[in-house]
Amino acid sequence: AIITADRMAGDLSTLLHDVFGFPAFRGVQRQVVDRVMAGRATLAIMPTGAGKSLCYQLPSVALDGCCVVVSPLIALMHDQLRAAQAVGIRAASLTSVDNDWRETQDRLRAGELDLLYVAPERATTEGFRALLRSARIALFAIDEAHCVSEWGHDFRPDYRLLRPMLDEFGDVPRLALTATADAHTREDILVQLGIPRDGMIISGFDRPNIRYAVGPRDGLTRQLTDLLAAERGPGIVYAQTRAATEKLAETLGRAGRPVRAYHAGLSPDVRAANQAAFIASEDMVMVATVAFGMGIDKPDVRFVAHAGLPKSIEGYYQESGRAGRDGEPAVAHLFWGAEDFARARMRIMELEPARQPGERARIAALGALVETGTCRRAILLRHFGESPPERCGNCDNCLSPPDSIDATETARKLLSAVYRTGQSFGLGHIEQVLTGAVTDRIRERGHDRISVHGIVAGDEGALLRPVSRALLVRDALETTEHGGLKLGPNARPILRGEEEVRVILPPKRQRRRNARGAG
Ligand code: ADP
Ligand code: ZN
Repeated sequence: AIITADRMAGDLSTLLHDVFGFPAFRGVQRQVVDRVMAGRATLAIMPTGAGKSLCYQLPSVALDGCCVVVSPLIALMHDQLRAAQAVGIRAASLTSVDNDWRETQDRLRAGELDLLYVAPERATTEGFRALLRSARIALFAIDEAHCVSEWGHDFRPDYRLLRPMLDEFGDVPRLALTATADAHTREDILVQLGIPRDGMIISGFDRPNIRYAVGPRDGLTRQLTDLLAAERGPGIVYAQTRAATEKLAETLGRAGRPVRAYHAGLSPDVRAANQAAFIASEDMVMVATVAFGMGIDKPDVRFVAHAGLPKSIEGYYQESGRAGRDGEPAVAHLFWGAEDFARARMRIMELEPARQPGERARIAALGALVETGTCRRAILLRHFGESPPERCGNCDNCLSPPDSIDATETARKLLSAVYRTGQSFGLGHIEQVLTGAVTDRIRERGHDRISVHGIVAGDEGALLRPVSRALLVRDALETTEHGGLKLGPNARPILRGEEEVRVILPPKRQRRRNARGAG
């Protein structure tokens, strides 16, 4: 189909309706499509589910020539291919599992293809470029464009080689798409793919019907059982390992609701059966690793709970975003532990040096999310480049603002005690020393005779655990390989009194306070 510019505006809406069956564009789709149709290089940053594929599929139908889509995962590619073909788009793919290469190439040359999906490693070969030269290409769409950035969480070196191809066909507009983009990654995509800054279109990331709640793990099984009792609809519990997934599914299943497990270690049959049962169910709980959820369309998920720290804010947004697709109220719970941060930092040490700063920034951003006493949604949205209001009114901190207190003194006492006991003991021992306990172990080590013995008294003792968590999160404390505590790189400014440590009061203490206030 060839459309002249003056007829374009009306015709795009007609195509949207006639080909895709949608009554209207959603969010920034119109803006992106208009820019693409005008032949201008564009980076579209849209959350999962916002409808990115339409942004190139619609132009692929409207424009004369084929749209080449670079996509990193063959499975994902084939899902989209089938969806495109289902609405009558002439689409094909060239991947290692396709066996109709010759036919696809012939169709491309004959101008009989609207869409051609390829993997990045294919797109960058000389053979592929020669093929493109013999055809008419209308658009390059680069899906999952964050893969081009080393700073991103999913770097694919092949994406770096796309630029020469894009530049060889310099007259063909390029559209990069991604759901994940902190400021660094965004910048990198623009530079790597040669897109001007004003070509960046960011869509709204807010999911106002999701209530966010974040808190430390404190008897996880009980916390989850309470949650399952409170939220009746279908829900997903994300666990961090396959073993944890199975164990949690078994434990939670005892409470009476249908519970199933899903992880990559289960046989394809079991996975498919569990997924189908979940999609059909109105009250099932799926305990799963993050392998579950990609490409699953279940609009009425009422809650998503993370049993441990997600990999990144992007990951958290995406996984929690599987709740409440129908727009009805839903909740997202995150249960974290200081050891999640310790483990994440340990893993970073094993990465190649170039990737470490990006990973560290990701952990720090998660630290800010879990530690804050302010609006969770505001933190999430600011991460995606938006300027949200200070309070959303629909997260734990907005609904019941927590008491936070200046615990810098306690933090300094704790750090000193860790230092003076030789940076090898766990929190339990440090707590005993600070509160002045005299046990055999303390006497044997001579820890009853050091200056920090007994310097924490009364209510302050209840602060030691939250303070240690805060210090672990901000890398002022680290765990040793034997589970002891040692000073981390950010301990110094706190010991020197240059940095404040505020903590949210532990619930018990808060309750006592409230009771006192009320009586
Ligand atoms: P993304 O790639 O951004 O995660 P998809 O392209 O897979 O999102 O689209 C998500 C869902 O939204 C799909 O089911 C799609 O059919 C639907 N969709 C896309 N655009 C529209 C629209 N304008 N109106 C209604 N539904 C839409
Ligand atoms: Zn809020």
